[in-house]
Amino acid sequence: MPSLIDLSIHELHDILSRREVSAVEVTRAYLDRIGEVDPKIRAYLIVTADKALTQAEEADSRLKKADNITPLTGIPLGIKDVICTRGIKTTCGSKILENFVPPYNATVMEKLEAHGAVMLGKLNMDEFAMGSSTENSAYHPTHNPWDLERIPGGSSGGSAASVAARACAGSLGSDTGGSIRQPASYCGVVGLKPTYGTVSRFGLVAFASSLDQIGPLSRDVTDCALLLNVISGHDTRDSTSVPKDVPDYTGSLRPGLKNYTLGIPMEYFIPGLDPEVEKAVKHAVSALESQGAEVVEVSLPHTEYAVATYYIIAPAEASSNLSRYDGVKYGLRAPDYKNLMDMYKKTRSQGFGPEVKRRIMIGTYSLSAGYYDAYYKKASQVRTLITRDFKKAFEKCDVIAAPVAPTTAFRLGEKADDPLQMYLSDIFTIPVNLAGIPGISVPCGLNSSGLPIGLQLMAGHFEETKLLTVAYNLELALGRCKNWPLDCYC
Ligand code: GLN
Repeated sequence: MPSLIDLSIHELHDILSRREVSAVEVTRAYLDRIGEVDPKIRAYLIVTADKALTQAEEADSRLKKADNITPLTGIPLGIKDVICTRGIKTTCGSKILENFVPPYNATVMEKLEAHGAVMLGKLNMDEFAMGSSTENSAYHPTHNPWDLERIPGGSSGGSAASVAARACAGSLGSDTGGSIRQPASYCGVVGLKPTYGTVSRFGLVAFASSLDQIGPLSRDVTDCALLLNVISGHDTRDSTSVPKDVPDYTGSLRPGLKNYTLGIPMEYFIPGLDPEVEKAVKHAVSALESQGAEVVEVSLPHTEYAVATYYIIAPAEASSNLSRYDGVKYGLRAPDYKNLMDMYKKTRSQGFGPEVKRRIMIGTYSLSAGYYDAYYKKASQVRTLITRDFKKAFEKCDVIAAPVAPTTAFRLGEKADDPLQMYLSDIFTIPVNLAGIPGISVPCGLNSSGLPIGLQLMAGHFEETKLLTVAYNLELALGRCKNWPLDCYC
């Protein structure tokens, strides 16, 4: 028998608006589910049960009066702990923000609240979103619901694992170099990184400001479009937010890809790509062809420089952004110190984990006088070349299809001591952030060990509707996942 937690957001919306079930009942079902599975997957840093039930009661009174109901009214969601939530701890997976309670909401939280969505809690992540496995959380790792010995991906590992385990109906994550798409791929859920400037970054704790974007993770493409509709839009509190009307993303989901050209970049099918991933991706491309798309080969010649470029630019911006954690205004302050310098040193030494320290050191070095031209300036120039590659490729096609990551989810601890191997796993997701274009991961099958594989789709700036249409058609061709992990009754 399917239970409430097995329904997608749009299915839940139908029964909530017909008042066949109350938002409080749905929220209780999710809180029970969290109680049942979260001790195994550890996706949540905190569960805000009281707040969730209060919000659900408010949603019920809106639903009762049929007043101001939207597709998210009464829908229980999880939020990555990098997004500021007024009155609720926002740790960013770091000890330095262990007791930080934001006095304000991120713009995306205000939008969700205005729609009557319910927040179940804050989700685990790599410290300051730096990582690809969620093992860099200062609190605990998160486990992949498909195989508890494996990582869920990162840095939005909690956001992906909780959706896959049906411990929330959908979630928000953030993506600087792949942190929504890679965990979505490893956990078999849909995850979208919007065009830079589409979703306000106000209240998103900054990692690398020229790359960071908030985006949705969901069970299917329709839910992804619904969430994107709500969180997008111009915001004067983020100077990089683009003043553009929000298209109706759900309205654009139509069967058939007759006028679509799909580009396949040869640089994404390289040695090191797991043959099972390659097979699933190629099968997905044929499925899209059967929906009417024309397939052409495209070239993104500077792909091989993307990892090196990103690992200069992102740490450079991070070293600047993270200078605010000095023990003065908020967050941790080391208890014993001799003077101001000593206080800074001890606070930052005790508060940051090893990966964050490594990034601060790389970033500070590459920005320092004498090295700036060789590193940061050079990386910025290569970034322009990568952006131009995409512009050129999109003259030949509407959407590019490729793998999300070279492999499926790896084992906990497998890459934890080898930062270079960890960085290399971001090779296919990073170029999208450097160019500022949108990218989505859509489930496209399981490997022989039953681990999910994602297809990555990329489009030109502000072409999310194209991206979602192709993703929707893949779902139609392959069928929505019927086989969720951790006992499913769908
Ligand atoms: N894995 C990448 C990193 O460690 C990307 C992280 C992200 O997108 N937040 O920087």
